[in-house]
Amino acid sequence: NPVLKLAMTQDHHFTKGTLVAVLTTEPLDRPLDYKAPEGGCQIGDFVQVPLGPRKVLGCVWGKGRGGFDLSKARAISNILDVAPMTPDMMSFLARVGAYTLTPMPAMLRLATRAPGLVDPPSMRKVYTLGTGEMPRETDARRRVIAALKDTPNLAFTLKELAEHVGVGTAVIKGMVPSGAVLEQDSPRDLEFPHLDPHASGKTLSDDQAAASTALRAAVASETYSTTLLKGVTGSGKTEVYLEAVAECLAKGRQALVLLPEIALTSEFLDRVEERFGAKPAEWHSGVTMTERRRVWKMVGSGGAQMVIGARSALFLPYRNLGLIVVDEEHDTSYKQEEGVLYNARDMSVLRASLCSATVVLASATPSLETWANVEAGKYKRLDLQSRYGPAVMPEMKALDMRTEKLPATRFISDQLVAAVNERVERGEQSLLFINRRGYAPVTICRACGFQIACDHCDARMVEHRFLKRLMCHQCGETKEMPTTCPSCKAEGRLAPVGPGVERLAEEVIEKFPDAKVAVLSSDLFGSARALKEQIKLIANGDTDIVIGTQLVAKGHNFPNLTLVGVIDADLGLQGSDLRAAERTFQLMRQVAGRAGRAEKRGTALMQTYQPEHPVIRAILAGDEEGFWKTEAEERKMAGVPPYGRMAGIILSGPDLGDVTRAAGDLARNTMPLQKIGAMVFGPAPAPIARVRGKHRVRLLVKAEKNAPLQNALSRWAAGVRLPKNVRLQIDIDPQSF
Ligand code: ADP
Ligand code: ZN
Repeated sequence: NPVLKLAMTQDHHFTKGTLVAVLTTEPLDRPLDYKAPEGGCQIGDFVQVPLGPRKVLGCVWGKGRGGFDLSKARAISNILDVAPMTPDMMSFLARVGAYTLTPMPAMLRLATRAPGLVDPPSMRKVYTLGTGEMPRETDARRRVIAALKDTPNLAFTLKELAEHVGVGTAVIKGMVPSGAVLEQDSPRDLEFPHLDPHASGKTLSDDQAAASTALRAAVASETYSTTLLKGVTGSGKTEVYLEAVAECLAKGRQALVLLPEIALTSEFLDRVEERFGAKPAEWHSGVTMTERRRVWKMVGSGGAQMVIGARSALFLPYRNLGLIVVDEEHDTSYKQEEGVLYNARDMSVLRASLCSATVVLASATPSLETWANVEAGKYKRLDLQSRYGPAVMPEMKALDMRTEKLPATRFISDQLVAAVNERVERGEQSLLFINRRGYAPVTICRACGFQIACDHCDARMVEHRFLKRLMCHQCGETKEMPTTCPSCKAEGRLAPVGPGVERLAEEVIEKFPDAKVAVLSSDLFGSARALKEQIKLIANGDTDIVIGTQLVAKGHNFPNLTLVGVIDADLGLQGSDLRAAERTFQLMRQVAGRAGRAEKRGTALMQTYQPEHPVIRAILAGDEEGFWKTEAEERKMAGVPPYGRMAGIILSGPDLGDVTRAAGDLARNTMPLQKIGAMVFGPAPAPIARVRGKHRVRLLVKAEKNAPLQNALSRWAAGVRLPKNVRLQIDIDPQSF
């Protein structure tokens, strides 16, 4: 990899007029040569360079290649007022590019996703929550205050805030004189408040103390290592990895904590503040552009000691990264499914190995990949045996739905109703879990059998009664619920089929009219604060029955909850995905783990139509290691990850005929892949066969673990000629196979 070599072998300063290679964010196939500007430049400098009539963003990547008339070379326009990219970051980008088969300009774009990076230092004003009286309350003004309260540590420009709240800029301006809203200079150069690594944490249990000691030693050694930190939710993993963070900060290095879900961020920010006396920097889709500029710059200059964020926080320009925590490491949302297709968990390990940092993978239900790496001795493993405090794992039982004979409009069995009633009488909480948003997954015409589908995707429209719309869960498109069948025009015959969380709520309210019920589903909350408040209410015991989707499976602690009822334990086992067993096992254990905290042992009841299914039996038996061993054997036999390598080749385009023909052509010309012993399956419809009007066809490539898959794929792709309206994308380590 020539780009990598370039970055690795050079570290010097270039004097004015020397020819340097500049990698730009423009889709060119190699860095371009430019002359170093007045005062010279150095490797890693972020620069602007002329390209045709424009100026574009770039990074000084090494010595120029030359070989042309030097007098024709143009000079770098200017060096940006930000810290240069570190050598380990340069290698990281090159390595991720090589692994995911992503061209370097796209990698640089990923690493410079702070909009306005090249703007002159701006004196733009930002607007935050003030302490003054609100002058004459209006609905718009109240919404401004509510939005600012939701995001206490984010800075908005006037325009950003107005768009965010959905009010005119004049409304906000009008709140400044009274002090209800504060107007300040842009915080772009504002360092984050200091986190005190020596502030003391909680007194640790023996298990926690042992794990903390091991992790602190790993961090203190300033060498690369990866450790799986395994323990059920509530076992105190967060408390333990915050100790590793403390060690990292004490060493003067930066720490990154990746979380799978933005909804978990605010709770976590509070814990960091409690532990270290201040909040860390935040990086995810909910962060304003203005704040992103600040985070990007401060991470680069060392003015931010700690970042918590979503997967793309891995591509921030850390000065001196000493620790990466990947919380809920098994979570599928760590895989980026658009643009550069990378897995943030795996790339964390790569990043850490390049800068001598420690990785902590925290989970109650690790991925098979991580489990296999522990077995192979590549990762260490630390276990937190019991929950923090005296509680134990819940008792697990199957409810055989074949004997229940429920009508098609009812989803809660009599046994489950009885169990919930018992809890309500005792003043304890129950959770009913269903992994389906909306009211009903299918809307069918009782006259002709027609099912309402999305116009742009290969997906059914899901009825959302709360929003009073039909919604496509693939593309987010919504439409009004029709009163007549779009196909046969029959009046009033459209009916919901199957349960969603909203429909379940309806049944619960009917069956338990006196109970206090809360529904936790991401659609039902306008803001992060509303969700947080609901979660707090539940945690305080203010609810008898919680009805929830996947949102409740992730990381919240409800101390008074003693019963979990899973409405459809079989849901994830349908379909042919080889990862289905792993996913279902993880999800069911996560959900069941919500029951029984503090002194009360919990119970988990799973409604199932196939109680003999091996995965359901493994879940009930709670034999985790046994499950992993069986699953590992099966994957080994099939030669699939983590014991073999896979890649998806996805062709997409507006015309199904063109896409299918192109895929057929490709499948007949796979010589470079066959040379490394790889097998090519398909073409077949991709897991989502149509999205946003684009048809998608997939070839699956399977190779042995040590085969040079990327090499073969890029050689193969270089020989590919595609029609203009067909796009090719390569997905290394696909999520489903
Ligand atoms: P996990 O990350 O494994 O879900 P947490 O670290 O969030 O577990 O711990 C669960 C709960 O127990 C939290 O409310 C946490 O504050 C509390 N806790 C954990 N360890 C301790 C400790 N050593 N002392 C006091 N409280 C603790
Ligand atoms: Zn759609």
